Amino acid sequence: MNGQEHHLEPSENRLAQLRERIRSTEARIAAACARAGRARNEIGVIAVTKYVSVETAALAVAEGLTHAGENRVQDALPKLQHIGDKAVWHFIGHLQSNKVKDVVGRFAYIHSLDRLSLAKEINRIALNRGLRVRCFLQVNVSGEETKHGLRPEQLIPFAAELANLPGIEPIGLMTMAPYEAEPEATRPVFRGLRELRDELNARAVLPDPVRELSMGMSNDFEIAIEEGATWIRLGSVLVGRE
Ligand SMILES: *Cc1c(COP(=O)(O)O)cnc(C)c1O
Repeated sequence: MNGQEHHLEPSENRLAQLRERIRSTEARIAAACARAGRARNEIGVIAVTKYVSVETAALAVAEGLTHAGENRVQDALPKLQHIGDKAVWHFIGHLQSNKVKDVVGRFAYIHSLDRLSLAKEINRIALNRGLRVRCFLQVNVSGEETKHGLRPEQLIPFAAELANLPGIEPIGLMTMAPYEAEPEATRPVFRGLRELRDELNARAVLPDPVRELSMGMSNDFEIAIEEGATWIRLGSVLVGRE
């Protein structure tokens, strides 16, 4: 920090910090793409705004982070109200069936479809409202007991059930890796999700092949990019914490 920053207004300071976070994160994304021989435009960035105020979330969107993610409906609603369709909203957290009515129509994507009862409720409400909801199937690749998601062996039979639910548009898979002090240790989890996607497509379980892999957070996004992520979900490293 240079001495001058102490004289900035808090809001200017916040903007300067946000811009610096965006700049340094972009540089890391670009470097990971270069290592993996991937084009930068293959990867979408979801700014996870759950740790910050409505004002900071709005600043982030104004700075060009137009995909925003929230993991709890109650915390998301004030941000949705304030920011509205200036951002494309992603629901990334565990979703209870009784909250589906608040999510469908407000969020363009659901990243946490992990059970048939939830799929049926999303389908029911989507059809009622004449919508089709883009969903990621969440898989618990690491097998950690604290994590939500389908077990890998449940994925294919679960995906087959979705053929009967026209209110759901499956577009890919999502996973969360365990927190690792050494991010490299997450690689098998991300590789595992990519292999599951390829298997799903090879077996043509869904009417259309799926492309998307939602994987990688602040601690491990570079590894996820190297393993094929098409969406990374970044909170603390990109938007910060307040
Ligand atoms: C909070 C959260 C993130 C972002 O977390 P960071 O480690 O701060 O980047 C990503 N995905 C999900 C599902 C989350 O709940």
